[in-house]
Amino acid sequence: MTDERSYDDFSLDELLQLNKRTISPEDMKKYQGYMAEIFTAFGMDLDTPSTVDTPRRFIEALYESTNGYDGDPKLIKAFPKECRGEPDCRLSQVIEGPIHFHSLCEHHVFPFYGEAYVGYVANEKILGISKLTRLVRLYTKRFAVQERIGYQIADTLEALMAPHGVAVLLRAKHMCVEMRGVREISPATRTTVFRGVYADDPALRAEFLDVCGLNKQIL
Ligand SMILES: [Zn+2]
Repeated sequence: MTDERSYDDFSLDELLQLNKRTISPEDMKKYQGYMAEIFTAFGMDLDTPSTVDTPRRFIEALYESTNGYDGDPKLIKAFPKECRGEPDCRLSQVIEGPIHFHSLCEHHVFPFYGEAYVGYVANEKILGISKLTRLVRLYTKRFAVQERIGYQIADTLEALMAPHGVAVLLRAKHMCVEMRGVREISPATRTTVFRGVYADDPALRAEFLDVCGLNKQIL
């Protein structure tokens, strides 16, 4: 998903990808066999009490860690009206965070993990605060790219609520950087998405970033 396409171009189902995965037990067994072969070739002794079930545990853990693909029906609920056109309604922002997340980078399938902050300035609809955590989980528990997660969260919030503005900040540590290649302890990677009034108003952006602790170098 790129910024050129606005949320109007996507159906909510398309954004949420509400299609529960179905993988047969036979296929799961087959995938465990693949992992047993790879682990053995790479040096693991699968013939010990500790490792005999490792291929099964690995496949099950990978499946669970990517259950964002199964969607989250609880995200779609009725929202009460909020903005009645008062002059100050555009100034009232909701910011949720830190929302801790874990994801798998789609380039290496190594974990990246960190914190998300999601802010919005409501228009006619509001969202239960717990929904923002669900939204972050929906897009992080997949094979993902940090930057795209931010766009997806913003796109979906816009489709769900049509708010005056949306802001998303993600801070994450990438194991594919720290465990391979240059093997450096990397600083956290930060990505931001600003839409609507956040894009237009530097003061609102600054307030959001301040609440996120960006100027205090928390992570
Ligand atoms: Zn990677």
